[in-house]
Amino acid sequence: MSNEESNRERGARLLIVGPPGSGKGTQATFIADAFGVPAISTGDIFRHHITNQTELGVRVKAIVDAGDYVPDDLTNELVADRLSEPDAAKGFLLDGYPRTLDQVRFLDELLASDGKLEAVIRLTADQDELVRRLTHRAHEQGRADDTEDAIRHRQNVYAKQTAPILDVYRERGLLVEVDGIGSVDEVAARIREALASRGIGVVGDTAAA
Ligand code: ADP
Repeated sequence: MSNEESNRERGARLLIVGPPGSGKGTQATFIADAFGVPAISTGDIFRHHITNQTELGVRVKAIVDAGDYVPDDLTNELVADRLSEPDAAKGFLLDGYPRTLDQVRFLDELLASDGKLEAVIRLTADQDELVRRLTHRAHEQGRADDTEDAIRHRQNVYAKQTAPILDVYRERGLLVEVDGIGSVDEVAARIREALASRGIGVVGDTAAA
């Protein structure tokens, strides 16, 4: 059996949390691939609906454009639908959800019947470093609207809104904190090691034993 098949059997149920600019989306794809589970990003799903001008997309466009949160009932319903798809039956990596305490409660109920979360990966990063990265990227992409102030504002909103969620998962002993500053490969290796040290590992990885 290949590693990927073994991990599919194992059925990892993971969340990843990280501030804007932390490279969370890239890492989400890496980890999900390693575990053979789908990476489910609520941000990507909303953007997909907006691009395709679906009924949901039309409804949420103004909210997402403004950088505000889509109402919990809409977001929760979307995630429930996505997690009921066959590819998520044996595991998943959720990226960008839950973002509010109401969403945490909803996810708890959703998972109550068929298996709990194994870990919540938190990418940490120095705020000044993230602001530097994002202003650099905005500059390169000619996004003059993405000012340092706007970027700092988003960081602050993230810090304020995710802090209570992290507290919940920390109390449950699920929080796995990983330094998010470094190359994509370095950070991916750190995540792998941190998960392995908790017994959540790619089969064949001795650190998982
Ligand atoms: P970021 O740029 O912070 O990585 P995402 O790509 O995860 O953001 O999400 C983009 C947008 O989609 C958010 O600003 C928000 O409007 C909406 N969104 C995504 N996930 C959620 C969620 N869990 N609850 C409410 N709104 C969400």
